[in-house]
Amino acid sequence: MAAAKLQAPRGTFDVLPEEALKRRELYRRTWAVLGRGGYRPFDSPAFEDTELFKRGVGESTDIVRKEMFTFEDQGGRSLTLRPEGTAPVCRAYVEHGMHKLPQPVKVWYWGPFFRHERAQAGRYRQFSQVGIEALGSDDPSLDAESILLLAELLEAAGVRETTLKLSSLGTRDSREAYLAQLRRYLREHEGDLSEDVRARVEQNPLRAFDAGHEGTRAVMAGAPQLLDGLSAEDAEHFAEVRELLDDAGVSYEVDPTLVRGLDYYTRTVFEFESESERLGAQSGVGGGGRYDGLVEELGGPPTPGVGWAAGIERILLASETRFPGAPRPVFVAIDESGTRRAAFGLVTALREAGIRSEVEQAGRSLKGQMKHASRIEARAVAIVGEGIEWRDMDTGDQRPVTGVQEAVRIAVGMNG
Ligand code: AMP
Repeated sequence: MAAAKLQAPRGTFDVLPEEALKRRELYRRTWAVLGRGGYRPFDSPAFEDTELFKRGVGESTDIVRKEMFTFEDQGGRSLTLRPEGTAPVCRAYVEHGMHKLPQPVKVWYWGPFFRHERAQAGRYRQFSQVGIEALGSDDPSLDAESILLLAELLEAAGVRETTLKLSSLGTRDSREAYLAQLRRYLREHEGDLSEDVRARVEQNPLRAFDAGHEGTRAVMAGAPQLLDGLSAEDAEHFAEVRELLDDAGVSYEVDPTLVRGLDYYTRTVFEFESESERLGAQSGVGGGGRYDGLVEELGGPPTPGVGWAAGIERILLASETRFPGAPRPVFVAIDESGTRRAAFGLVTALREAGIRSEVEQAGRSLKGQMKHASRIEARAVAIVGEGIEWRDMDTGDQRPVTGVQEAVRIAVGMNG
């Protein structure tokens, strides 16, 4: 019997070198943008106590109810592969007493996250997120700054044609009061609602705003709006965030029905959507908001916070940039009269001089080596025989050089 074919698990993928180069380039640009904004790098473990996400993300969310990769370790502890990055940052803030540092504490992260979702284009079970968090201040300029940084990152990544949706959820209390009011309103109009919406009135009344059903849409046109129920303080905060975004020339749509799949949000929430067809049914490239109660929820002092996460795969799918590939190498070929030792010496000297270079390592004939050099798009070939010949692969010119030093000099000259 033939052995079963081994494949990467459903919802996961390999990152082959061509794609990996783009990721590294995106990482470099991300670092530049976020570093300029005063954010410093941060990493947390790939798994945490399950309790962190139950408490942090919220028991009623899809993530906690259906999507976590949870397992027991050999000591019987329940652990979970991290489905998101905000709760871990808040845990670390408390664990390391970061409230004693100058506030706000600003960090950014980049790494793998795990959710047991139905895999499709743009939606995976292991995906990568870049995110930022600013903890320790509720200043509206932090909300605006974080939105600006995400806009700048998307721009640097070549993601164009995005729509920024913006709203405010108020505090947990005002949101609860609003949800109760909305449920009451929906129950009063129960007869006109779709069955689907009726079944979710208790669990998720906000879903009614997304319904396609005609009767439901008519009812929702007159429904109370969350933004109208904000406290004076929350409304003022939201107005200031919008003012700063207006001043910065960022366009956005206020979408009072914007809800995000995590329980911890308070006040500002936002999401960047892309119309790119390559994203399939997914349109969200990145989003976030304020979570002023989360650190306290996790056992820390009352600490406001704001941040976002964006999907690396979705950014790369939606990107219209051709990221630069690796520079073309110099190939060191070995002629019949040359030695491996001399060729190896030359490639080492080239590399020490900062030249990307490769050497014959597969026992090919000289003809085979020249063919190989073309395939890897070498810009020059140094043929090591009794002496060294230098061949420019673009012009076809070939001439002897005096030795390793001259070969290195020519290669360095080609770089400049
Ligand atoms: P969230 O943490 O749910 O707010 O997601 C933030 C961003 O992460 C989304 O806008 C997506 O770009 C990305 N993302 C979330 N879940 C997935 C997934 N299953 N596969 C790929 N990207 C994802």
